[in-house]
Amino acid sequence: MLLKNITWEEAEKVLKNNVVVVPVGSTEQHGPQNPLGTDHLIAEKFAQKLDAVVLPTVPIGISKHHRFFSGTLWVSYESFKNYLLDICMALKYHGVTKILFVNGHGGNTPCLMDIALQMRDENVFVGIYEWWRSIPEEITKKLYPESPAKYMGHAASAETSLNLFLCPELVKMEKAKNVDTLWAPKKFGGIVTHETKDFTDCGVVGFSKDASPEKGKIIFEACLEELKKLVEYIKEVQI
Ligand SMILES: [Zn+2]
Repeated sequence: MLLKNITWEEAEKVLKNNVVVVPVGSTEQHGPQNPLGTDHLIAEKFAQKLDAVVLPTVPIGISKHHRFFSGTLWVSYESFKNYLLDICMALKYHGVTKILFVNGHGGNTPCLMDIALQMRDENVFVGIYEWWRSIPEEITKKLYPESPAKYMGHAASAETSLNLFLCPELVKMEKAKNVDTLWAPKKFGGIVTHETKDFTDCGVVGFSKDASPEKGKIIFEACLEELKKLVEYIKEVQI
């Protein structure tokens, strides 16, 4: 149920004692083949499949490290944190005690964890779900037997495959690249600089050329199953 589509009278009935899902992501470069909206589009697609109240998607996150690639947008840690905390406090005002962030962007994770801790002091349970952490091991092994890490990186095969399954019209597969790199750039002796341009010229971190809608379907369905279990679990949780 999308909050934006219901009335306040309906909201009054469904907000209390329900899990409220907040899809969050980013608008940032995802290689030459994927749309800038990848992270928030994927988060939104997962959220919309849930038996829960779903808030409008938060589309811009903590992405300054991708700024050398055009179109990337970002807000500061503090802005992101304060904005989401205000949303959580508004939900608390309406009687919500259980919130789940469905997050599509790894750069947001530390801030979301910070928010979860802070909201716990307000007696509100905040959980964080991220699709890449929930792919069952047997699926990863089946899809990427020789080196899963190379296919699971930023804009690499797994993420590109999700786009090919969820929004194929936005993917330019002929531009997909395989970039054998690490998050720590070799040119600086392996020191972590957290500056994407230091270790990839095209924005892809890993191998993306073998992405396919079939892989995307397998990943999406397996992750959604895990996510649905999590929502049911949170419904029962006592804080
Ligand atoms: Zn991404």
